[in-house]
Amino acid sequence: MSIGAIPRFPLATLPTPLQEAVRLRQALGGPGRCPRILLKRDDLTGLALGGNKARKLEYLVADALRQGATALITTGAVQSNHARMTAAAARLAGLRASLVLTSADPNPPAQGNLLLDHLLGAEVHIVPAPADKALAVGDAVEETIARVAAELRARGERPYVIPVGGSSAVGALGYVAGTLELVGQLAAAGEAPTRLYYASGSRGTQAGLVLGAKLYSAPYQVYGIAVSGGGPDKDAHACAIANEAAALLRVETRVTPADLVTDEGYIGEGYGIPTEACLEAIRLLAREEAIFLDPSYTGKAMAGLIDHVRRGVIRPDETVIFLHTGGVPANFAHGERLLA
Ligand SMILES: *Cc1c(COP(=O)(O)O)cnc(C)c1O
Repeated sequence: MSIGAIPRFPLATLPTPLQEAVRLRQALGGPGRCPRILLKRDDLTGLALGGNKARKLEYLVADALRQGATALITTGAVQSNHARMTAAAARLAGLRASLVLTSADPNPPAQGNLLLDHLLGAEVHIVPAPADKALAVGDAVEETIARVAAELRARGERPYVIPVGGSSAVGALGYVAGTLELVGQLAAAGEAPTRLYYASGSRGTQAGLVLGAKLYSAPYQVYGIAVSGGGPDKDAHACAIANEAAALLRVETRVTPADLVTDEGYIGEGYGIPTEACLEAIRLLAREEAIFLDPSYTGKAMAGLIDHVRRGVIRPDETVIFLHTGGVPANFAHGERLLA
């Protein structure tokens, strides 16, 4: 079955632009030292300030509607981009949204994504979590999701639970479709980049990108820069979702851990805690390209790409893609750090 035959609820403005970062290349030493860098602007997917989750939510919301759902429940850290975009998607699909968010502060300030969650009218439930373990409080989160789902059902609603990051097989289809879009853009532009760099978290993006790259014979190797730990378990999870997505598409192609490249060298102290290199990358992209990265994901991924350029891991005669997955609203919850 082709990806075009799978139900999709339109939420994103597609295709997103593919543009060369000429000034960034110059700043990183010019053609003698730095490869050509093509930016795939999934920060411009358009859904309530954009980001990669818009692509996943197109398939997740279609699935929820097909199942007769009346409400979406999802979870993430308090500055979750996925939660913000789920709240937005729910509005556009006429559904309710309940967000179960982990936070070290039991009363987090309404800034950044959380401010937007409230503006979108989402029902927010805060689960206390230590700062650097924001994604590792599984049981409390699962219990809260179960309680919220039960409360919704008691009110006659039909909840549809979306896992953290929208990283299910259905969600991963968003990046199978995203790969088809990108491969078409590359062919039209006569480009054959060797690598695609992106920020890797809950791995649904990886599952879709790697499955898509195999299905559509992408010229590039997919390079994940991890923003949180959990290597081997997450590899198994990414393969499971990718292969379930392949089954939904009724294709024989399968993804194994050997297909996955994830560099855990740029996480720093933990998820959501910006490193110095991350802050440097955010400032550099703002000043050279007038493009905003974010402190939790794309700043770290770009820090990884920049380090690979500086260390000669990538040759200057290569062309690479940087997939900008969004996250911009989180900057507004980190003002002091960004300017320090
Ligand atoms: C969620 C997110 C990612 C990571 O995507 P996963 O599918 O969770 O790995 C990357 N960048 C941004 C800005 C995100 O919000």
